[in-house]
Amino acid sequence: MSYVLLDQRQSKARKPHRCTWCGQTIEPGEVYHFASGICDGDFQRDKMHLVCRQAMDRDMQTCDWFDYEFIPFGNPRGMTQTERDDQQRAAKL
Ligand SMILES: [Zn+2]
Repeated sequence: MSYVLLDQRQSKARKPHRCTWCGQTIEPGEVYHFASGICDGDFQRDKMHLVCRQAMDRDMQTCDWFDYEFIPFGNPRGMTQTERDDQQRAAKL
């Protein structure tokens, strides 16, 4: 995978957006993380809850950045898949 970051900033939502990380709604008035870039030749725009963006940063640290991929809209809000698995395991003990 190749990814070139073009722009990133924090914005305040004027209308509802869907979070690329968790798939849940970013409500109007909420501050979110916006990023645009070129992913494998395709223009891409991501909007995420701030907590989801932080989860993605943690997730990226667990692997080689150039191989990093995640399932859009398929992650727990504000958590990585691994963190949620750990939490669920801990809850069963
Ligand atoms: Zn989210």
